[in-house]
Amino acid sequence: MVKHVVMYSGGIGSWAAAKRVIDKHGKDNVTPLFTDTLIEDEDLYRFLKQTADNFGCELVWLKDGRNPWEVFKDVRWIGNSRIAQCSHLLKQKVARKWVDANCNPDETTLYVGIDWSEMHRLNSIVKHWAPYKVEAPMSEEPYLDKHQMIRQLRDIGIKTPRLYELGFSHNNCGGFCVRAGQAHFLNLLKTMPERYKHHEQKEQEMREYLGRDDVSILTRTVDGEEQTFTLRQLREEWESGLGLQVDLFDLGGCGCFAQYDEGPQGIESTEQPSVSGGRT
Ligand code: SF4
Repeated sequence: MVKHVVMYSGGIGSWAAAKRVIDKHGKDNVTPLFTDTLIEDEDLYRFLKQTADNFGCELVWLKDGRNPWEVFKDVRWIGNSRIAQCSHLLKQKVARKWVDANCNPDETTLYVGIDWSEMHRLNSIVKHWAPYKVEAPMSEEPYLDKHQMIRQLRDIGIKTPRLYELGFSHNNCGGFCVRAGQAHFLNLLKTMPERYKHHEQKEQEMREYLGRDDVSILTRTVDGEEQTFTLRQLREEWESGLGLQVDLFDLGGCGCFAQYDEGPQGIESTEQPSVSGGRT
């Protein structure tokens, strides 16, 4: 039975957590587990391989086989900050299946990379991974912020995942995330315009597939009313140079192992609600 499983997302927090678990329990007793969404940044794969080699651990590499857009099509729902079925179906469900097949709740502890500043997420994680015991090593002393973790990574000669260098707050889904906010998508547009355009096109295709113009990943409030705010609108307004009103604090955050979105899981699912007042 596998004794210590680290939910290894490719983020700096999960690396630092894995390092602490290995320091405590030894590399032979620790299994980092990665779930691939198939739209990861190419540099994430470099990071995973280098860090697993450095740990001396065998990395478990899982995938559902779909990417987030294929999931959205299957469940007829465009993921957003409220419901992100990609997270449940591509990350949590895949990981759960492996854990149930390879671990024993009486002997196995699971570890997540959240730190002391994200402790509000822990209760939900513990509840959803029951009966397994869950720990968050980076919520314990010595407390480190992300810059300190990155410095530790550099100290052992491993390059920082490039998405951090490009200003992203996480290293998931290649800088895309339906849970992220306007500022995050604006950063994607500025730093990787081709990738942004790909997701913009996918969002348009989904709206056409659903026959809906009242759903989108992002929303914004206009005159007190919440409206759809498509990736196309965001790009066009930014390109117009007329002053895009983006909420720079709307960065959002990804917590694929830390936030649970079961949501509709089949094509017989309930219909995605309209963004209220939301026709664009
Ligand atoms: S990072 Fe965002 S888009 Fe990717 S699987 Fe998680 S919630 Fe979905």
